[in-house]
Amino acid sequence: MRKNIVAGNWKMNNDLAETQTLVTELKMHINSSNCEVMIAPTFTNLWHAFEALRTSKIEVIAQNMHFADNGAYTGEVSASMLKSVGVKTVILGHSERRAYFNETDEMLAKKVDAALKNNMRVIFCFGEELADRKAKNHENIVGSQIKNGLFHLNSAAFKNIVLAYEPVWAIGTGETASPEQAQDMHAFIRKTLAAKYGDEVANEVSILYGGSVKPGNAKEIFSKPDVDGGLIGGAALKADDFFGIVKAF
Ligand code: PEP
Repeated sequence: MRKNIVAGNWKMNNDLAETQTLVTELKMHINSSNCEVMIAPTFTNLWHAFEALRTSKIEVIAQNMHFADNGAYTGEVSASMLKSVGVKTVILGHSERRAYFNETDEMLAKKVDAALKNNMRVIFCFGEELADRKAKNHENIVGSQIKNGLFHLNSAAFKNIVLAYEPVWAIGTGETASPEQAQDMHAFIRKTLAAKYGDEVANEVSILYGGSVKPGNAKEIFSKPDVDGGLIGGAALKADDFFGIVKAF
């Protein structure tokens, strides 16, 4: 059975003191849940969050990593460095990484390989821009992001892959894909996976939706059969809101 997941991407928010406060609040609120719960603080606060949540059900994950093991890549962080502070899951391919840091499909494929080689789980993000949707080209865009980033993998590798469909036009804009739009795209994604790897693999992969999910809309979005949870940005920064979304399961 595939897993339901709610993952909070804190992006470049929360210094150490703010991280301490939010992690303490989350720990108090979230001691049992019907889904896996994850938070992705910034690199400098991973160790603190990991220590603070050691006895909690909340998993601490990373927002990004480099594909190399080590070396002359100033400012970058590798999979083994993440693992050394307890991180087992990494978000790759977020639209902000693709747009502002020029992360290409080819680079992301290398990052995916590096994470899997280090026995890490990957939350692989992708999604179309507004112009793509208006031109009814959204399925082509999403299909090619998935193929280019992941289809070099064998089927066994998909045990460690979670997909996150995040339409760029819905991220941080307050505009959400309707539950039907999310379901249609998630069904397309599962069909794309099934065509390459078969139904068994496709039915086991969790597909998260991301884009302005809030406590008020989470339940309806998560009730769709192919939506297995959410990747949450803004609403992950307030304990009450994040808890409200976790409770939607
Ligand atoms: C995100 O950045 O992954 C995201 C979904 O952000 P928001 O929830 O703020 O739209």
